[in-house]
Amino acid sequence: MTDLEKRKRDFAELVVKSGVNIQKGQRLVLRCPVECADFARLCAAAAYEAGCREVVTHWMDDELNRMKFLHAEDDVFDSVDSWEVDFFDSLSEEGAAFLTIYAEDPESLKGIDPDRIKRATISSGKALESYRKRMMKSECQWCICSVPAKAWAQKVFPDLSVEDAVARLWEEILASCRVDGGDAVRNWQEHSDEIRKHVDIMNEYNFKTLKYKNAAGTDLTVDLPEGHIWAGGEERSTTGIPFSANIPTEEVFTLPDKNSANGTVVATKPLSLNGTLIEGFSFKVKDGKIIEARADKGEDILRDAIAVDEGASYFGEVALVPYDSPISNSGVLFFNTLFDENASCHIAFGEAYPSCLTGGDSMSEEELEARGVNKSMMHEDFMIGSADLEITGITHDGEEVPVFRNGNFVF
Ligand code: ZN
Ligand code: ZN
Repeated sequence: MTDLEKRKRDFAELVVKSGVNIQKGQRLVLRCPVECADFARLCAAAAYEAGCREVVTHWMDDELNRMKFLHAEDDVFDSVDSWEVDFFDSLSEEGAAFLTIYAEDPESLKGIDPDRIKRATISSGKALESYRKRMMKSECQWCICSVPAKAWAQKVFPDLSVEDAVARLWEEILASCRVDGGDAVRNWQEHSDEIRKHVDIMNEYNFKTLKYKNAAGTDLTVDLPEGHIWAGGEERSTTGIPFSANIPTEEVFTLPDKNSANGTVVATKPLSLNGTLIEGFSFKVKDGKIIEARADKGEDILRDAIAVDEGASYFGEVALVPYDSPISNSGVLFFNTLFDENASCHIAFGEAYPSCLTGGDSMSEEELEARGVNKSMMHEDFMIGSADLEITGITHDGEEVPVFRNGNFVF
């Protein structure tokens, strides 16, 4: 076995053990692009070894998906078949774990009729609402990780041959996930504990407001609701099982009061959104609502995304990631939100995680709304970190505390 093959096996074990943390007798839903089947098999082997009851596979393919958007009959984008809804509902209801291997070509739907994309987003958002809510409330363990696919690797490393680009992307992914040939599960646990330190400090400050500013043009204030909880690293399902929803992760995050954001926020990295790259974009927000969205590229897709429902034009997450951190320092632009969000401070438009509010998991929709917790079928992180980003926290006593200076945590 070559060194890389060993590390791929270690990585599969990591996402199965520390990622979804599959339990004896539990089913695992494995969502994977067909191109990455080799890695899916490694994950399945690790899952069965850990006592998994059954691995249920859900295959995906960018090219078939693109063909559907190009050639299928128009009304198929307005509904989702009941068997597909049933698949996600019944497995999440029984408490299966969900592992998604995300390796999408960031431009897989480039040039597709935006109206088809918007209608498909809305119909699947509505049909899979119960499933999505269970995931957002951590009723099941879930994890998203990535392995290289050719089209994605070539987008990241356009000057390399396909083979070299895939090999290089494997190295970047494994390094960012602390898979170094040693004990990957222990490395991950240590990293997760490290993230907790900043989580604890942010929770102790219990800021009322965060103020963001940088030379790119971000000038934003946003309030955090009373009872907000900063999270990061390992989390716990409502059934009490620890898991890591993202591998890699570097972020410390919470939810904002949905009606409180005011000012301008400028993205500092492109965003792959619904198979299209959005570049050079910014939002103007007033009382929480995005009132203006501009983009140099992909503006129509961006506007459609924030218009799929009422909550899509409000924020649901604020996350802190030091500019000086491993993925950011790699200098690689991944065109994959799992990596780019963990190289940069970010905000999400759309749904908030109810678990980021004390007691939020058991609140009704009306209670959550009253507490300023955003609700939407979207949850899309966009990156706003920069080398000069300043974030200042304002406490409930009105004291101003530097949180980020020159792109990094002050403490
Ligand atoms: Zn995040
Ligand atoms: Zn997010």
